[in-house]
Amino acid sequence: MRLLLERALLPHGVADDVEVLIEGGRFVDVRPGLRDSAATRVDGLTIPGLANCHSHAFHRALRGHTQAERGSFWTWREQMYAVAERLTPDSYYALARATYAEMVSTGITTVGEFHYLHHGPGGTAYDDPNAMGKALIAAATDVGLRITLLDTCYLASGFGTPPEGVQQRYSDGTAEAWAARVADLSESPTSRIGAAIHSVRAVPADQLSTVVAAADGGPLHVHLSEQVAENEACQAAHHCTPTELLHDHGVLHSATSAVHATHLTESDIDLLGAAQTTSCFCPTTERDLGDGIGPSRALHGAGSRLSLGSDSHAVIDLFEEMRALEMNERLRTQQRGHWSGAELVAAATRHDSLGWSDVGQIAIGQRADLVNLATDSPTTAATGASYESVAMATSAYDVRRVWIDGVRRLDGDRAQVGADLTKAIEEVRR
Ligand SMILES: [Zn+2]
Repeated sequence: MRLLLERALLPHGVADDVEVLIEGGRFVDVRPGLRDSAATRVDGLTIPGLANCHSHAFHRALRGHTQAERGSFWTWREQMYAVAERLTPDSYYALARATYAEMVSTGITTVGEFHYLHHGPGGTAYDDPNAMGKALIAAATDVGLRITLLDTCYLASGFGTPPEGVQQRYSDGTAEAWAARVADLSESPTSRIGAAIHSVRAVPADQLSTVVAAADGGPLHVHLSEQVAENEACQAAHHCTPTELLHDHGVLHSATSAVHATHLTESDIDLLGAAQTTSCFCPTTERDLGDGIGPSRALHGAGSRLSLGSDSHAVIDLFEEMRALEMNERLRTQQRGHWSGAELVAAATRHDSLGWSDVGQIAIGQRADLVNLATDSPTTAATGASYESVAMATSAYDVRRVWIDGVRRLDGDRAQVGADLTKAIEEVRR
């Protein structure tokens, strides 16, 4: 397949009249300045595929139903648990498939699914103990979305307290049992298996190293200091911050993603930077839940790379995540211009924290993911078709076409995505 991109974001900047040749799902040639090419013309601005590095697919069923409440993260969590309680492998497949189709329609080409709803009611394993994880992989595969299933170890309700209620569905009992179950999952050309520690609350300190060993140098994600209460409980139990606890147990390294990283000390920031971790920010969820504003720029300065996720899916729009990151810094500091458009686009197109090092650039040898944006929509008209227009002026609805591994996945028609979401969410909210 040969396409002529009117304008494209290439690794070294914006270029016009870029002809791309795609074979076997990869770019085999990329040439700017070929105005007279006979290839199929793609108008507008085309960017690499977006990576959604933190997702809980079933939270999509909460959108619009939890935003009216007063309360906190912890009262929201009760509503989230009520949905988790009802899901079966079949209903989760349908909900995840519809949610992943929404992601594709917004230009997301890889999802990192932080998956902790493993077992049946009461914590009883399904006949296939990986039935839920396999449902998620199938859901992504069936809509053409690349997935890293971050199978999540969750063993405790809090420091020294066993899982209770629906949390029993999350727990494998021990980290060894979790690792044995995960070892039975297999990968494919479009799906990978990674590991996750739900949080320092949910995995006892003496079992952290088992999860690290099972991750075996691959992606290892962890919710970190999203809430002040988590920090306080960690101090009470271990006399250190959650970041220090993870550091002391060998969790922090270059394949580790710290998700949220909201309430950190200066020394936490130094530890995360020195270990060359990735910091995964989810600004639309963090503001929806009233989490707070994490020190994204300070983490970057310390050496931690930035990635982005839509987490609870109150919004699925990585353009909004990019924008929100910069806007949060402006509100916090009363100064403008913390992140450049190029830095924000780089954060949104980094797939390596999910184990995919050959995705995220329009360049020879990379997997052929393309996201084509309208530059003449009511939102984007006359905004310049640049890094800044992508990060500051574009919305998910400006995505017109999506290719993943060279296969066309969206051609502008979103009606079916909405219909499938309605059906799947009505089923689990009944
Ligand atoms: Zn999360």
